[in-house]
Amino acid sequence: MAGILDGKKIVVMGVANKKSIAWGCVQALMDQGAQVILTYQNDRMKRSLDKLLSDVDLQMFECDVAEDANVEKTFTAIHESVGNIDGVIHAIAYADKDTLEGGVKNVKKDGFNLAQDVSAYSFISVSRYASAIMNEGGSILTLTYIGAVRAIPNYNMMGVAKAALEAEVRYLAAELGKKQNIRVNAISAGAIKTLAVTGIKHHGDLLKMSEGFTVNGKSVTPMDVGKSASFLLSDLASGVTGDIIYVDNGVHLIV
Ligand code: NAD
Repeated sequence: MAGILDGKKIVVMGVANKKSIAWGCVQALMDQGAQVILTYQNDRMKRSLDKLLSDVDLQMFECDVAEDANVEKTFTAIHESVGNIDGVIHAIAYADKDTLEGGVKNVKKDGFNLAQDVSAYSFISVSRYASAIMNEGGSILTLTYIGAVRAIPNYNMMGVAKAALEAEVRYLAAELGKKQNIRVNAISAGAIKTLAVTGIKHHGDLLKMSEGFTVNGKSVTPMDVGKSASFLLSDLASGVTGDIIYVDNGVHLIV
């Protein structure tokens, strides 16, 4: 059966392990026929990916987004290896524990800068270097959370970074749509127990609260997110850009 991503080359950034949202995206994209190219942060993540990919052969490139030079080098290497690409998923965020736990009032400049740098600025950098090697009509996607637009308990500084990220989606969509017909969107995912979430104080309460607000009592899974990501990366979403699409089983209807 033909997939909606047949013939598309899509870079997925941010698989840490099998619980990662990015891993759900990889599986859904492959189900729809995409050629997936992965990037990983460091050697530790590569070892984890090697285990996950024992029976799948995907190309992988190192990319710590903390430096623009790394991002540029990675997309140049991807271009040399596979040619032009059709899409990118940016599933990357980080804030140190002290910055997350102290509440927004107590955030120090260093912690603020690090969280914004990795969780929000990196999306600009990735969009810049990815769009340089992208076919016309390409699609760029990032991951956000409802804590960008609501004061979710303990989400703190990450909510501030996600608010910046969501603004970037709109500005980049306007710029890249005009010049290259590239679409830029975000999925606002419901809470899912991943490595990143365990950095949030009382994350068990957050996960429980989120599940309680779903319309059907069930948290979304990485695969649920991946299926919507497949649509947004495909030509079926040709008219969708600059949008924040909620994939949260209805949490945003109530919170
Ligand atoms: P995860 O821990 O599986 O993934 C986070 C990824 O970010 C990891 O692969 C890590 O290597 C990468 N990363 C961190 N710093 C990096 C750097 N300097 N360079 C390159 N990569 C770096 O967690 P996840 O929950 O799957 O997170 C993926 C995205 O989804 C994040 O943007 C997160 O904020 C977002 N999100 C998560 C949830 C949730 O409840 N889990 C909800 C909404 C949005």
